[in-house]
Amino acid sequence: MVDYDSARDGFDWYRDGFSQLDWLPGGGLNNAYEAIDRHVAHGHGDKLAMIWVGKNGEEERYTYSDMKEQSDRFGAVDEWLGIERADKVFIFMDRLPELYIAALGVLKAGGVIGPLFSAFGPDPVLDRMVDAGARFLITTPELRNKIAEILPKVETLEKVIIADKDGRSGEPLAEGDLDYYTLMSEADSSGFQIADTSQYDYSIMHYTSGSTGKPKGVLHRHQAVVQQYMTGKWCLDLNFDDMFFCTADPGWVTGTSYGMMAPWTNGVTNLIYEGGFGANAYYDLIDKYKVTVWYTAPTAVRLLMRAGSGPVESHDLSSLRFIASVGEPLNPEAVVWGNEQFNMAIHDNWWQTETGAIMCSNYASMEVRAGSMGRPVPGIEMAVLDEDYNPMPPGQAGILAVRPGWPAMMHAYWRQDEMYASRFKKGWYITGDQASLDEDGYFWFQGRADDVINTAGHLVGPFEVESALIEHAAVAEAGVIGKPDPIAMEVVKAFVTLNPDYEWSTDLRRELMQFTGERLSPAIAPREIDVLDVMPKTRSGKIMRRLLKARELGLPEGDISTLEDD
Ligand code: AMP
Repeated sequence: MVDYDSARDGFDWYRDGFSQLDWLPGGGLNNAYEAIDRHVAHGHGDKLAMIWVGKNGEEERYTYSDMKEQSDRFGAVDEWLGIERADKVFIFMDRLPELYIAALGVLKAGGVIGPLFSAFGPDPVLDRMVDAGARFLITTPELRNKIAEILPKVETLEKVIIADKDGRSGEPLAEGDLDYYTLMSEADSSGFQIADTSQYDYSIMHYTSGSTGKPKGVLHRHQAVVQQYMTGKWCLDLNFDDMFFCTADPGWVTGTSYGMMAPWTNGVTNLIYEGGFGANAYYDLIDKYKVTVWYTAPTAVRLLMRAGSGPVESHDLSSLRFIASVGEPLNPEAVVWGNEQFNMAIHDNWWQTETGAIMCSNYASMEVRAGSMGRPVPGIEMAVLDEDYNPMPPGQAGILAVRPGWPAMMHAYWRQDEMYASRFKKGWYITGDQASLDEDGYFWFQGRADDVINTAGHLVGPFEVESALIEHAAVAEAGVIGKPDPIAMEVVKAFVTLNPDYEWSTDLRRELMQFTGERLSPAIAPREIDVLDVMPKTRSGKIMRRLLKARELGLPEGDISTLEDD
């Protein structure tokens, strides 16, 4: 994007966006075709699509032709297994090449992928698979073992496909399971045809957390690909020759929209790293593979800042051309630090699972306002609303809202129509965030409007953690809040009351932390747990998390007229 104002002026998704896609013969749209096959059709089959680096430094390289051939093969496996349009296929895997190939194959077969974060314990996997009615699960032996106890409870589940990469686990297949590599080698993809999905067919289902109730399954459609493609250009500055590195896991929306769709639709080489965060590990990758565009998250940036300039200086990072960040507010200090260390600003952008793609961004061609999430993407109308859902003038904090109808907008919360409807008011989609707008059209994040906790960029529904805690015999009630933290932005803090016959102790606290870590995931389990004699609740019985938070932080308690009498 050379100039923001002219790109935005009169932009029309159909005339100026969808027209840049190839579409399927007959007018259908399939995002795996747009990501991979069309580059092969355009003569770029030999171009590198994916460089995969394993956690032990192993490396595999795949051209666009390789990706097409392998995802066709997996598509043929899907057909053979009887995967039908809109079937939910869950993928519970570390960042292995098989994850990406299977995901593309399922999309080609017309199925809907449900990627799950591999650090999840059995509870979140069970909740999500049961809610979605999952028919198939693709996983690894280690992860299958972790959730073995819940699999029989997923009544809709027909088959489990196991990818034991390089025989890493050395374990035999469990009875009834299918081996990924055998399926692939036996599949006949010679006559494989991509399902004739339309732009309105479902493609991906990601779960997101709310403040009450179980996580919601957010359904996206194939047409989201146009926005992922365009924002790849506009907000990540992707060009055909880029080496792109996105640190997000496909268990979260950034890892699919920008770990797969945006880079591949733009024909770039996508560097995928199986390992987790590490300043040296990241800099090694940038140095070795000459990464040009890097998309990461504020937590990672804060950890890089903590690691200091030593690791920066001991690497050659001169290939880097553009850095972007998403998931939480990017502190102004981080932008300043990025300028000092990398000689370029870190570009913050804003979006969420429900929006499917970037909505508001700092752009390469525009001055970065440190601390701001930038300006709306062309074709997107955003506003700050007052309590009556009317737009407010610049300078005041209010409800961040978007005009519905953008291409990557979620189409449903799976089986939660009322919840879906409640997100739309007076012709606006209500994001759940608070923000303000300045005179020049830049948006500034102010906070969340609900109790959802943002820990290291992961949204955590307090209810899910509370539910896990009360599964423990000692816990009577639990209330969970986000407590400010310099690295993770917020950490999960829990308050519990105990059942009779249980005494509070440091051992019990440790046991509860371990218990929830195993049930949920260490990433979203409480970092702190305190005991209370009485849980503050409203007269209608709702835990007053707001009050727990105010008391924890020593802030005014506000209106407590609805507080239940002790
Ligand atoms: P998720 O749906 O898990 O991707 O989380 C979306 C939420 O993360 C948003 O509603 C915000 O609360 C937060 N978020 C994402 N990007 C930003 C950003 N650039 N600045 C501030 N908060 C952000």
